Amino acid sequence: MNKLTITICPICDSKKMKKIMGDLSCEKIKHLFTVPNIVYYFCENCGEKLTDAENEIKIDQYFFKQLHKAKRAA
Ligand SMILES: [Zn+2]
Repeated sequence: MNKLTITICPICDSKKMKKIMGDLSCEKIKHLFTVPNIVYYFCENCGEKLTDAENEIKIDQYFFKQLHKAKRAA
């Protein structure tokens, strides 16, 4: 299966996209959280961080796990 990789920044059309594996800060429904060990793309031109569809799902799953934890603690 061919994996889709992001090579051009959709924001500024720059080709300076860097594939990075590490922590990524996200914001969803006004919750800020950091996802560890996620693959994402960083535009060296405008600083935009992007994730592909596969990792977007991982972020969603991680986020809802964190949300559940927070609810249980409250
Ligand atoms: Zn860019």
